[in-house]
Amino acid sequence: MLILNAFLFGLVFGSFLNVVIYRWPRQESIVRPRSHCLACGRQIAWYDNIPLLSYILLRGHCRHCGARISPRYFAIELLTGVAFVLLASEFGPTAYFAKYAIFVSLAIPLAFIDLDVRLLPNAITFPGMAVGLLFSLVVPVPGGPAQWLAGPAALDPGYWRLLSLADSAFGALAAALGLWAVGLLYFAARHRMGMGLGDVKMIAMVGTFLGFWLAVLTVLVASVMGTVISLPLWAFFMMRRIRNEGRSRRRRTRRQRLKRILLGSFHYTMQVYRLPFGTALALAAVISVLWGQEMVRWYLSVL
Ligand SMILES: [Zn+2]
Repeated sequence: MLILNAFLFGLVFGSFLNVVIYRWPRQESIVRPRSHCLACGRQIAWYDNIPLLSYILLRGHCRHCGARISPRYFAIELLTGVAFVLLASEFGPTAYFAKYAIFVSLAIPLAFIDLDVRLLPNAITFPGMAVGLLFSLVVPVPGGPAQWLAGPAALDPGYWRLLSLADSAFGALAAALGLWAVGLLYFAARHRMGMGLGDVKMIAMVGTFLGFWLAVLTVLVASVMGTVISLPLWAFFMMRRIRNEGRSRRRRTRRQRLKRILLGSFHYTMQVYRLPFGTALALAAVISVLWGQEMVRWYLSVL
């Protein structure tokens, strides 16, 4: 029952997130006008606007003009529903669930807007930080330096809220400064922006919700994902180089050829491939919410 409720709740949120993801980059209001068909402009009746169901019943087409409706709406509703189910099974009907459900509802539009237009709106990250700080007073931020320094006092009913708030603020500041520094180093080394200030503000938001360690984990997981995604692309460009080298009439030593194929394609991949880092951060942050503490604990036990 709890799971079903969480799923339905997630679908409704997902339906709203669709509106945010579509309208924000177009600078349209998210409350007015009501949803309408993008092709014929007719308003969508409530019975044609039921998450998942309407899309299936109408087979992905507008009732009036028959224009195709992007399956992405369906996918984002389903994604949000599934995320809420995972959170409900992990945290039960608790304040933790509320906190992380809101967090996911901030992460999903950030992920898709970054994917679409390579921007991470301040209109989401700044209020997100405020909500994260406020929630630290209700739900303790996963272990940070303030709670660690306080020792047993961290459990004291008089203090824990204060310590949790301190860890939330510290997590935001330290994670943002860290990522900003990495960005500067990258720029110094490659003379190219690896990430923008949007990513820095986003990780600050993540820090307010998850604290410093899980924010660090988020960056690490996102970086690994970014690398994994870029590998097939590198392989593709490498294949192309090998083919071109085969046709080339220029005389080159084996070593020169190998260098051209391996490094040349690597540089080319780095040039054409602009990772929407915010998208990777969002996915990594949700992974950190669900399994981060176990991952950190496992890592410390191996150490
Ligand atoms: Zn239509």
